[in-house]
Amino acid sequence: MTDAATQPTIFARIVRGEVPCNKVYEDETCLAFHDVSPVAPVHVLVIPKAPVESLGHIDGSHEAMLGHLLMKAGEIGQQLCPDGFRVVANTGSDGGQTVAHLHLHILGGRAMGWPPG
Ligand code: IMP
Repeated sequence: MTDAATQPTIFARIVRGEVPCNKVYEDETCLAFHDVSPVAPVHVLVIPKAPVESLGHIDGSHEAMLGHLLMKAGEIGQQLCPDGFRVVANTGSDGGQTVAHLHLHILGGRAMGWPPG
């Protein structure tokens, strides 16, 4: 996965172990770690290890990985935020995506507002 300058994204570098992260969970398919700039008391990112850019770049070959990501987001969210949490996948420029490697935000530890900005 590369960005516009064809450099590896920060998340690809985290997957490779080139950049440290505050890890919450890892298996052969995904990695979960605390967001470096949290916007809620709990803010964890769940990313696939495979280089998929966004939910706008998926096909049938990604179905099992996506189910796994959502499953782990639910487990981690429930564990860290027993009173509830939100899972968000910012997608593309209008979606507010800034890192071109698919990721789920788990947000919790406070009541969430709706609609999001
Ligand atoms: P997006 O805006 O939905 O693409 O979310 C990208 C998220 O990645 C933002 O919330 C950033 O704070 C977070 N982020 C960027 N670099 C790092 C890092 O090196 N470690 C952890 N989180 C990061």
